[in-house]
Amino acid sequence: MISKHLLQSLARLGVAYEENVSLKSLSTFRIGGEAALALYPDSAEELAESVRLLRQDGLRFEVIGNGSNLLFCDGLFEGALILTQKMNTCRAEGNTLIADAGVSLATLAGTAAQAALTGLEFARGIPGTVGGALVMNAGAYGGAMADVTVKSLALNVETGEISELTDHGYGYRKSVYLSNGSLICLGGAFALSEGDKAKIMETMRCFAAQRKEKQPLEVPSAGSYFKRPEGHFAGKLIEDCGLKGYTVGGAQISRKHAGFIINIGNATASDVLRLEELARGEVYRRFGVTLEREVRFIG
Ligand SMILES: Cc1cc2nc3c(=O)[nH]c(=O)nc-3n(C[C@H](O)[C@H](O)[C@H](O)COP(=O)(O)OP(=O)(O)OC[C@H]3O[C@@H](n4cnc5c(N)ncnc54)[C@H](O)[C@@H]3O)c2cc1C
Repeated sequence: MISKHLLQSLARLGVAYEENVSLKSLSTFRIGGEAALALYPDSAEELAESVRLLRQDGLRFEVIGNGSNLLFCDGLFEGALILTQKMNTCRAEGNTLIADAGVSLATLAGTAAQAALTGLEFARGIPGTVGGALVMNAGAYGGAMADVTVKSLALNVETGEISELTDHGYGYRKSVYLSNGSLICLGGAFALSEGDKAKIMETMRCFAAQRKEKQPLEVPSAGSYFKRPEGHFAGKLIEDCGLKGYTVGGAQISRKHAGFIINIGNATASDVLRLEELARGEVYRRFGVTLEREVRFIG
C-alpha cells in the first residue's frame, strides 16, 4: 500500500508520478504485472529528494532507464520504480559529452556524430539510457562505456550525498554501480576524440545493418539474455544444444539469434525463467559451461 502521506509529499515536491502502472509498458520485453508506483523526476535534486521520501516511508524502490535489460515479475511490484527518462539534457563541451542519466544512447551517440566526435559509434544501436549503460558497462562491436567514461555523478541512497565518481570498477558487464548497490547514477561525462563526421555516420550505419541482420529486433526482448561465458558465445552454445525456436508459453529462444529470449505473445516472467533454466541446464549438461543471466530481474 502506498501511503497518502507519501503521495502528498511527492505532489508538494512537484514530482510526476503514477499509481498501478503496467510493467509491460516499462520494459522492451513487454512482460510483467504492475508496479504500485512509478515516479518521473526531472532533475537530480528531484530524484534525490524522492529517494529520501521513499526511504522515510520504508518503501522499496528501483531505478530504471529504458527497461531494455530487465525482466519484471508477473505479479505486483509492491514498491516504486523511479524512471530517469525526464532527466534528459545532453551537451558537448569541447571533446567531452555531458549527459543526464535518462538520455538515450541513441541521442548521446547522435550528438557525438553531429559534433564530429568519435568513440561512441558502438553505442548508437544499444536501446538503453546513459544511466543503464554506465551501470551495465554496455558495449558492442569492440567498444564499451568503460572506454569513454571520464566521470559520473552518483547519489548514495544511504547518505543522500551526491558525488563524482572517477573509478567505476568496470569489467565485462560490471561496474561499481552493480557491485555497490547503494548508488544511483545521475549522469556522466564522456571523453571523445575529433573525427570525421561522414566516417562516424558510416560506421554507425554499418553497425545498425549488422544488428538488423543478426538480431531479432522486430520482436520484444531484453537483448542478449545471458552474459558471454569466457571463451564461448552463449548463443552458439544454446544453438548447439538444438534449442533454437524452443518455446515455453509465450517465450521462445530466438531462431535468428539463440542468445536472445523473445516474447512471441503474452509471455510471462515464469515462461522466461523456465526457458532460462532449460537452456542453462542443457548447456551445462552438454558443454560443462555455466550460463549467467545478464538481464536484471526485478520482482
Ligand atoms: C534489442 C536489444 C539489443 C541490445 N544490445 C545490447 C548491446 O549490444 N550491448 C549491451 O551491452 N546491451 C545491449 N542490450 C541491453 C541493454 O540495452 C543495455 O544493458 C542497456 O545499457 C540498458 O540500459 P537501460 O537504460 O535500458 O537500463 P534498464 O534496463 O532500465 O536497467 C538495467 C539495470 O540498470 C539499473 N539502472 C538503470 N538506470 C540506472 C540509474 N540511473 N542508476 C542506477 N541504476 C540504474 C536498473 O535498476 C537495472 O538493474 C540490448 C537490449 C535490447 C533489447
